[in-house]
Amino acid sequence: MLGQMMHRPLLISSLLTHAERHHGEQEVVSRRVEGDTHRYTYRDMAARARQMADALAARGLGFGDRVATLAWNGYRHMELYYAVSGSGAVLHTINPRLHPDQVAWIANHAEDQILFFDLTFLPIIEQIARQALTVRAFVAMTDRENMPNAPHIPKLLCYEDLIAEGSDAFDWPEFDENTAAALCYTSGTTGNPKGVLYSHRSSILHSYAAALPDAMNCSACDTILPVVPMFHVNAWGLPYVACMVGAKLVFPGPWLDGKSLHELLEAERVTLSAGVPTVWQGLLAHVEATGSRFSSMSRTVIGGSACAPAMIKAFQDRYGVSVLHAWGMTEMSPLGTVCALKPVHKELHDTARLALQAKQGRVVFGIDMKIVDEDGQALPHDGKSSGELMVRGPWITSGYFKGEGGDVLVDGWFPTGDISTIDADGFMQITDRNKDVIKSGGEWIGSIELENIAMSHPDIELAACVAARHPKWDERPLLIVVKKTGAELTEAELLDHFRGKVARWWTPDGVIFVDKIPLGATGKVQKNKLREAFGNHLISHKAG
Ligand code: ADP
Repeated sequence: MLGQMMHRPLLISSLLTHAERHHGEQEVVSRRVEGDTHRYTYRDMAARARQMADALAARGLGFGDRVATLAWNGYRHMELYYAVSGSGAVLHTINPRLHPDQVAWIANHAEDQILFFDLTFLPIIEQIARQALTVRAFVAMTDRENMPNAPHIPKLLCYEDLIAEGSDAFDWPEFDENTAAALCYTSGTTGNPKGVLYSHRSSILHSYAAALPDAMNCSACDTILPVVPMFHVNAWGLPYVACMVGAKLVFPGPWLDGKSLHELLEAERVTLSAGVPTVWQGLLAHVEATGSRFSSMSRTVIGGSACAPAMIKAFQDRYGVSVLHAWGMTEMSPLGTVCALKPVHKELHDTARLALQAKQGRVVFGIDMKIVDEDGQALPHDGKSSGELMVRGPWITSGYFKGEGGDVLVDGWFPTGDISTIDADGFMQITDRNKDVIKSGGEWIGSIELENIAMSHPDIELAACVAARHPKWDERPLLIVVKKTGAELTEAELLDHFRGKVARWWTPDGVIFVDKIPLGATGKVQKNKLREAFGNHLISHKAG
């Protein structure tokens, strides 16, 4: 017997319609590339998104066509999130930090029809304009007054002119909720980038889950500032969640340095923000140097790479900001787990609670996860056994765009490429990425734990631990670190800091002090580059 409930499709346009009707006066504030701050309401945003959808339809944008963006977090980008997906076309957010050749490759692979860009990225457009073969129009996301003089870019349009061509009387079409809504390419550290194609249904279900109290805990009382870019896994779904719950939204535009972020957080009384650890490092350094405080921010979601306990402690103990450590990936829309404590954990003493918060946390409802050994056998959830993390759920990809990479699922599970443990309470902890694991004498050493210990030293700003070749043990851990400005610290002192914190044989074999650690397009440490640079260090310098 079937249930008798209505078949109303879960569509992204309904989020905006809801925000307009029930939170119409709620503000959306954006720092703009043009240099000023723009403010309007969800009511204004909804009207302009409909206008843009109408204008795009008039210019022949069809169902399923891909529309690319190269843009910061801002209101125009937000309008496109809704105008494009709401029309039944596919929003393809491109990471502007990629090499222009890669941007062109991705645009061609996705067969993008229109490419919207913030003025910051004009140089990229100038480079790729003739390489991006399917693009019919490039749209500068600005008004006529600020239009660049770029005669060599063919088919260049102005955003505000284009939107003016449409009418806000446009009605959002209704279609199957499984229709593709957005496309995001993984950063492609190995091989060419691969596209992950989200549907309306998956994005809405992901939003429900992300907004839950033990996930990002979002409500109409919140002011949310997504630092995580809208070009990186849909800013972890926050542009959808904010409309779903009616939260005020604040967009930082291109200004992601500690000072600018702190000013904006304070000026707009932001309660919740979200970003990767490397960005928060800049923010913490700024507040520390200036003796500032956070007067409204009560919590921050940190994910994308492991958040060191030292950072969690600084936010919580020094500044009264709770840290929500989260894990996910592009293939998962991205949210998989959030480290929300259970009542019993609130009684824990500081050190034990911090150790728990360093874990990536519990699954949000909708996600199922398990860890398996090399033969694919499920391992116990005892907090000790570690194996590859496998996931399944309605917002996890079943394969890549255009079938790249072939069948990716193993018995219906998506292999994440992360190595982790899961404890009896369901808290998952990533010990490494498969490709970053250090294998010493046949045993695994978790690089994240070693990095966390290094970063708990007060003189260390950033630490990365990689496998270096070793004549006897095959591989041994090597630490690459950046010291805080003015700090004086020797290799022996840093290695001494590991004493008693890990088994002796886990202690790194060496330390290399550098001025800078290379970060990839999504703010993560590029361990492959470090391995290339220092992989033979122990052979050439130590083991002889
Ligand atoms: P890419 O795979 O292209 O680097 P993603 O943003 O999809 O881009 O990265 C997902 C990966 O990032 C995860 O598989 C995991 O290795 C890592 N990651 C994400 N969040 C965390 C976290 N909180 N702790 C440790 N690793 C994380």
